[in-house]
Amino acid sequence: MRASRRGEGLRPPTLRLVDHVARAERHTPRNYHPLPVVVARAEGVWVIDVEGRRYLDMLSAYGALNFGHRHPRLVAAAHAQLDRVTLTSRAFHNDQFGPFCDGLAELAGADLVLPMNTGAEAVETAIKTARAWGYRVKGVPADRARIIVCENNFHGRTTTIVGFSSDPKTRNDFGPYGPGFQLIPYGDADALRAAVEAAPDETVAFLVEPIQGEAGIVVPPDGYLTAARRICDEYGVLLVADEIQSGLGRTGRTFACDHEGVRPDLYVLGKALGGGILPLSAVVGSREVLDIYRPGEHGSTFGGNPLACAVGCEVVSMLATGEPQRYAAELGERMLAALRAGVDPEVAAVRGRGLWAGVELAPGGPTARERCEKLAEAGVLVKETHETTIRVAPPLVITAAELDWALERLLPVLR
Ligand code: PLP
Repeated sequence: MRASRRGEGLRPPTLRLVDHVARAERHTPRNYHPLPVVVARAEGVWVIDVEGRRYLDMLSAYGALNFGHRHPRLVAAAHAQLDRVTLTSRAFHNDQFGPFCDGLAELAGADLVLPMNTGAEAVETAIKTARAWGYRVKGVPADRARIIVCENNFHGRTTTIVGFSSDPKTRNDFGPYGPGFQLIPYGDADALRAAVEAAPDETVAFLVEPIQGEAGIVVPPDGYLTAARRICDEYGVLLVADEIQSGLGRTGRTFACDHEGVRPDLYVLGKALGGGILPLSAVVGSREVLDIYRPGEHGSTFGGNPLACAVGCEVVSMLATGEPQRYAAELGERMLAALRAGVDPEVAAVRGRGLWAGVELAPGGPTARERCEKLAEAGVLVKETHETTIRVAPPLVITAAELDWALERLLPVLR
């Protein structure tokens, strides 16, 4: 049977929204709690569901769709590569790998790029890199490497990573947890200094989100990253910035660290790097830090595959113009100003930077989830994080008119 026939048989085009939801619920565990929207098509900032309803996507797949759905340049790059070669594994070279690493290194002002697939894999790669650097360069005694992380962090879902989460929902019942991580409060440079000074010879890295995403778009106090850089330099500790959600234009700069002119030792990137088309992540840093691997010590079958690299190359060249960043900064100001002016501070606090906002609801009134459901009915897709915060993160290609359209619907529901 031809693939298309088989596809048709499995998924009759006549299924209604409720049937799709029921079918999904029947055959998948409940590890997510999606809004009852079944997307069938999308373009730019707009998505259309199986029953023809149109929504403005103000979530962007948690930042993976910075360039919107199916950006023509990214789709063209993917199509062209699909007709050439899609996968080689790293057993051989491919002709998209070099240009992608070259371009991303230049964008980040770094020497080396180590591509992976998902964000969590890139975080794991950064952890392995920091530990190996600790043993091979810093001279940390075997198995003593220690990494400092922040409360309310979110770095992914692997067993190592959830082990150093402070969120019970993320962590509980998935132990035993790996040792070697210490939690400190976020945004508190004194706490970082104290934690490093407690074991300076064993501390290899400070792993931090320059703005905490899943925690509710928490922007640290001014000067925090600068102070972290200084403390890390003083004690020979790597500053590892998880920019998986905050990076690649979202905050109005290429990286959120750029707002303080801080350069980390390692950037951890993902989400938007794959252009919203496929998973592509990377760890980016200096030769001194990242060039510690010997052949066979790390890798991934799909990491650096030619299809992902072709799309990633196009993403990098779009960002290299600086245009998406400038646009996000300009429109972000408009969005944050409108949210701050339109929401009563007694009812909700608005945090954010660039085209990225968290609206923290005061107790009482409808829950964040109920408000997201109401907004979906009004044609605006956003999602709650941690029950009390609504995350707003439109694709960076949204026009001013589309943003105003969304705000007109958002503000009454947030009030
Ligand atoms: N790090 C940060 C800051 C994130 O926001 C996320 C995902 O939301 C991850 C890591 C994990 O990325 P992935 O879901 O691609 O594994």
